[in-house]
Amino acid sequence: MIRIILICAFCLICFGSEERTVEVRAYCLCEKCTSKELVKISQKDRRTANGNHVFVDGVFQKGLAVPKDGPIMFGTLVSVPEYGEVMADDTGGWINCKWHQNKELYIEVRFETHQDALDWGVKKLKIKWEK
Ligand SMILES: [Zn+2]
Repeated sequence: MIRIILICAFCLICFGSEERTVEVRAYCLCEKCTSKELVKISQKDRRTANGNHVFVDGVFQKGLAVPKDGPIMFGTLVSVPEYGEVMADDTGGWINCKWHQNKELYIEVRFETHQDALDWGVKKLKIKWEK
């Protein structure tokens, strides 16, 4: 009986949601925000780090860059205030560095144009994701 209770408590921890206040930065797919190699790929063939298309039928898809091997896995739905509920589908050099060096979690939200990314800038927000 005790064992069953312990297993249930463990499951709740595993499948619960996690909230964290993090610095949310904006990026787009221009050469200032990503690598010059990526920019050469035509718009319709662009894919994120986990293989999602950035444009579907010509429509830009929102998304989120997270550190590789960080607490948020690719494919996780993350709720970001002022941006929406989006899938973690990309990563980036700077946020990977921060995670590997100090286990600091930074995330980046994707915009269609560089101006939109500049307008967002950097915000401290409480994000939430399902574990
Ligand atoms: Zn840009």
